[in-house]
Amino acid sequence: MKLSLVVPCYNEEANVKRFFNEVNNVFLCNVDDYEFVFVNDGSKDKTFDNLKELYEENSAYNIQVLSFSRNFGKESAMYAGLKAAKGDYVCIIDADLQQSPEVVLKMLEEIEKDESVDCVAAYQEERNEGALLSNFKSAFYTIINKLAEVDFVNGASDFRLFNRKMVDAVLSMSEYHRFSKGIFSWVGFNTKYIAYEAKEREHGESKWSFLKLFKYAIDGIVAFSTLPLRLSIATGFITAIASIIYLIVVVFQKLIQGIDVPGYASIIVLILFLGGMQLFCLGILGEYLAKVYVQTKNRPLYILKEHLGKDDENDKNTLY
Ligand code: UDP
Ligand code: MG
Repeated sequence: MKLSLVVPCYNEEANVKRFFNEVNNVFLCNVDDYEFVFVNDGSKDKTFDNLKELYEENSAYNIQVLSFSRNFGKESAMYAGLKAAKGDYVCIIDADLQQSPEVVLKMLEEIEKDESVDCVAAYQEERNEGALLSNFKSAFYTIINKLAEVDFVNGASDFRLFNRKMVDAVLSMSEYHRFSKGIFSWVGFNTKYIAYEAKEREHGESKWSFLKLFKYAIDGIVAFSTLPLRLSIATGFITAIASIIYLIVVVFQKLIQGIDVPGYASIIVLILFLGGMQLFCLGILGEYLAKVYVQTKNRPLYILKEHLGKDDENDKNTLY
């Protein structure tokens, strides 16, 4: 198998068949040996029924349909898809046709013409979204690049094509809290970035609310940097120094200048400040601890309910 397309789908009933047809049209004279790996991430609409129909009506095509027992999130869907993919090259692409199959051809061309390239990642030069969201994303990349030991490219998405070596490296990282953009960077290898323009979503809705994105951003920072933990040491140190300076000033005023320093207001401010700082630092610690707690349970990243088009149908033990 030359190329696998890994397609995470969550409530994409209106898109999966269009996606299938559009890819086949674009690939018609350009790619001959490819497979679809659709991952139905616990959709609540008819996505799975549509995928099943696609699978049953198109036996001439290589199609796998993995279906989760509930919604586990795009990260888990991508992991399951990469694991099931059999291609020498594997491309992760959204089901909503915002990422056009023509770009996949360009990625293939780039990776085939230069042997040193292991991954071709598409990034959006210009984002077709509101200024607030766009600024929030840019701020996130600035912060995480300062904090983390790996690089994150602003505008780069999960729309990427990998060679087999890199897919295996990504799969070797089976951590529970997945932040793929960090994992792709952490495993190393040589990534080439090409610009693309994301199209408007025609059917269905984006699954990313501002709050979800914010949570995802925090997860990314916690997953790839321990610097916030050290932040509490710095904050504690600075507060301690400030309090010593304050003490010296108060003692100086009292003993040398004979001024009575009115205490009540400043004590309240100090208590509130210190209390706030302590809770803030505890909160950071809690974030990391919570991640450790969940990871130690060693739960699977997803539970498969169904797997159509699997090579060995009897191999029930490897459902996840
Ligand atoms: N997706 C998924 N599980 C989720 C959320 C999204 O598999 O919990 C899929 C979704 O069906 C789509 C892709 O991930 O194929 C990208 O999602 P979306 O289009 O909502 O993101 P956006 O393009 O708005 O960033
Ligand atoms: Mg989309």
